[in-house]
Amino acid sequence: MVHTLPGADELAAMARETAKRCGVEVPDGAVATTSPINGARLATVDWVDAGAVDDAVARARQAFLTWRAVPAPARGALVKRLGELLSEHKADLATLISLEVGKITSEALGEVQEMIDICDFAVGLSRQLYGRTISSERPGHRLMETWHPLGVVGVISAFNFPAAVWSWNTAIALVCGDPVVWKPSELAPLTALACAALLERAAAEQGAPAYLSQVLVGGPDVGEALVDHPGVALVSATGSTRMGRAVGPRVAARFGRSLLELGGNNAAVVCPSADLDLAVRGIVFSAAGTAGQRCTTMRRVIAHTDVADTLVERLADAYGRLPIGNPMAPGTLVGPLINGRAHAAVRAALEAAVEQGGTVVAGGGRRFADQAPDAFYAEPALVRMGEQTPIVTEETFGAIVYVMPYETLDHAIALNNAVPQGLSSSIFTRDQAEAELFMSPEGSDCGIVNVNIGTSGAEIGGAFGGEKETGGGRESGSDAWRAYMRRATNTINYSGELPLAQGVEFSV
Ligand code: NAD
Repeated sequence: MVHTLPGADELAAMARETAKRCGVEVPDGAVATTSPINGARLATVDWVDAGAVDDAVARARQAFLTWRAVPAPARGALVKRLGELLSEHKADLATLISLEVGKITSEALGEVQEMIDICDFAVGLSRQLYGRTISSERPGHRLMETWHPLGVVGVISAFNFPAAVWSWNTAIALVCGDPVVWKPSELAPLTALACAALLERAAAEQGAPAYLSQVLVGGPDVGEALVDHPGVALVSATGSTRMGRAVGPRVAARFGRSLLELGGNNAAVVCPSADLDLAVRGIVFSAAGTAGQRCTTMRRVIAHTDVADTLVERLADAYGRLPIGNPMAPGTLVGPLINGRAHAAVRAALEAAVEQGGTVVAGGGRRFADQAPDAFYAEPALVRMGEQTPIVTEETFGAIVYVMPYETLDHAIALNNAVPQGLSSSIFTRDQAEAELFMSPEGSDCGIVNVNIGTSGAEIGGAFGGEKETGGGRESGSDAWRAYMRRATNTINYSGELPLAQGVEFSV
């Protein structure tokens, strides 16, 4: 366990060299970006303002006119090359992710692996953009569905998956025939520039049109301009529910399409028959991993009264042994929070939990404040609650897990569902009937419902997203690609007659 945080010069040099290997010269820009590892300046970059969006969308629209006519399997060749370049620069991108958002190396590498995986998926998909044929009610007729490229996709992404969310959208959008204009998190501009540079290189090598993918580093005003732009066919926005509440109605007002991936407040139900070894490991990874800064982070444990005391004891023991520190040092499992605002939110939530009758059983303290007053390392907190009070129903973006008791599975399911968010959920049980009920229509109301694993760490093969205030969008695998295409229904008449549907007579 390393107890000394790296200095500012060391991290800044690492950022510069790593970005360079990805094809990015770190500019001497006007806006400073800091590393959560030590709270010091990492680099300076240039921001664009909302005025840049018009030109970017116009360029993307030009690219669309060419790209939509390229056969989908040929579009897949570009994504294949992108995947190869991501593999080649896996360690570089992971370093930038750690530097900019404080992920531990293993999780940062995992994020890049997810990008490689979605490229593989998208390449296969490029030969599987299937439509249906449908029986016609009329003789000598056939119905079919064809899927066409949709148009410019605007991607707005959050800090905590600064690269993977872009790749989920971009790999799929590109094989679907759509160019992408990306507004990354303002907290991770170097990661974004590096991803964009690798795609640009792939596009140049493959002879793809220019401006298939553009990155606009800037603040929320740039996101807003993308949201309002009539030339953006789909706005795929990942971030807080607050952001989605602003974005959704604005896109709808211009009849655009939106795909919202917003906040989560994810729970695990731990049943009397649960394998507690498994449950403890699953809970600790989901609740404390990424310092609690995943949308799928486990924030609630609903434990049967028979096992609650033992579970809390074992969790407290595990929490006491979590190595917290420099996320790039070997062995560290918990890195820093993104910034002071996040830490203040964690502190306020813990105070509210205590006011509302909770007991902090483990964690909650701050580390390294003397060494690096602008870096915010928080001990993951384990809080016992008698019931699901208002603070428990909120998403606080840090590692706090609230443990609550239940007596009947119906009550546990009701608690699971009694929050505004609907992203991820899980049940730990060896009773198949309990697992099935949790996954049934009367069970969890979330988009992700797991059995005997935690709430986080999804694979790209499944559709990812959730209900209610999580926004309803689905990204990544399965048939999520359909959001990036438009469907045309074709009726083909080979009968030589003109019978009308529903038996309507209309002849002169
Ligand atoms: P955030 O909402 O502060 O910012 C996300 C992005 O939205 C940023 O790029 C920001 O500039 C932009 N933005 C903010 N206001 C905007 C507006 N009015 N119009 C257009 N763009 C706007 O979120 P964050 O702090 O970066 O990320 C954490 C949040 O993201 C958490 O709530 C987390 O649960 C959520 N998240 C969800 C998913 C998911 O897939 N469901 C994945 C990752 C993160």
